[in-house]
Amino acid sequence: MTNEDWQDVASRDLMSLGGRLALLVRGEGSHVWDADGTRYLDFLGGIAVNALGHAHPVFAETVARQAATLSHVSNYFATPQQLELAARLKQLAGTGEKGRVFLANSGTEANETAIKLARLHDRDGLIVSLEGAFHGRSTGALALTPKAAYQDPFRPLLPGVVHLAPTIEALEQLFASGERISALVVEPIQGEAGVLPLPDGYLRRARELTTANDALLILDEVQTGMGRTGEWFAFQREGILPDAITLAKGIAAGFPLGAMVTFGAASDLFYPGTHNSTFGGNPLASAVANAVIQEIQDRGLLANVAARSAQLRAGVASLPLVGGTRGAGLLIGIPLTAPVAAEVREAAQARGLIVNAPTDDAIRIAPAYTIGDAEVEEFLELFAAALSDVSAHHAPIPTQETSA
Ligand SMILES: *Cc1c(COP(=O)(O)O)cnc(C)c1O
Repeated sequence: MTNEDWQDVASRDLMSLGGRLALLVRGEGSHVWDADGTRYLDFLGGIAVNALGHAHPVFAETVARQAATLSHVSNYFATPQQLELAARLKQLAGTGEKGRVFLANSGTEANETAIKLARLHDRDGLIVSLEGAFHGRSTGALALTPKAAYQDPFRPLLPGVVHLAPTIEALEQLFASGERISALVVEPIQGEAGVLPLPDGYLRRARELTTANDALLILDEVQTGMGRTGEWFAFQREGILPDAITLAKGIAAGFPLGAMVTFGAASDLFYPGTHNSTFGGNPLASAVANAVIQEIQDRGLLANVAARSAQLRAGVASLPLVGGTRGAGLLIGIPLTAPVAAEVREAAQARGLIVNAPTDDAIRIAPAYTIGDAEVEEFLELFAAALSDVSAHHAPIPTQETSA
């Protein structure tokens, strides 16, 4: 199949959920190739998933070795790979002894687990999420994702969920109102909202108020976790411990896997019969996650994430149409000075660069943790060219000053 005829097949056979941008057939490092042999620099990384880039030998060898040993047995059984992953996640998250891990298959499933954790904590309390949040598309996670286009066709949604403006003032008002709150669920950086960080001090204040009011603080680190921000988890920049974090995206660098990690008393809320998953944390997925974590540690990739972030942000800042940068590590939002993100994305793809436009006026990049000077330079060159292509279309119309 070539680039010419795949689109018809895709629109006939795949559920109609929005355009697919190219027919990709191969990847290596930070590059992918389409069916016509066109090469792209991939700075979307499968939406912040491909932490080691494409076809990384550690990934490929681990999948092959574990698939040839034991790939799935159900959660009626434990496997060494699963136990090792649970221990690693507890250690990286700093839960201490009293932490537990639930392994799932996606970010959404991890968040469903967190919603059930909140119900087990206090069935009569509200679950609070933030305006602009994205927690997933299943009916439970969707109730915490207040975007009309996503929610309206599926009402009625899960009851007992309310949304809050992402400000410290709104947070303080909520807890001053005397409402009974079971859990506050927030992303440290809202990825789908255009890579919007929480206000400074938000998580510390949220920790104080949830603790004082016996509510859980649950952090959706599906996008920000597993090293994406240059720390293993974004909350570790804030000097707090949450009651639970949810993980997925980068955790196995492209192998489907999700997780919820609990801290302290929240670790004792689930009991036999209350939850499980057939595939979740099978030895194949767990082995890949273990190998990915080990590779990040062995190569010092978190330091590379921080260094490349600084390089990219400095390089992007002075380009046309760019209104700054935000985010952390290699989760970077590039706000534009005009609502032309879709055009910039398209111009970038035409020049061989994959980026993402989560909103009308922001570009998101989330490249592999393994990028080096060459990838940073290639990105800056292609992105600058794409921005010039778009600003040429949007040149201010010269006003004719005529004097009578
Ligand atoms: C991607 C994402 C999800 C959903 O994860 P899936 O693996 O697509 O189910 C949930 N929360 C956040 C913050 C995400 O970025």
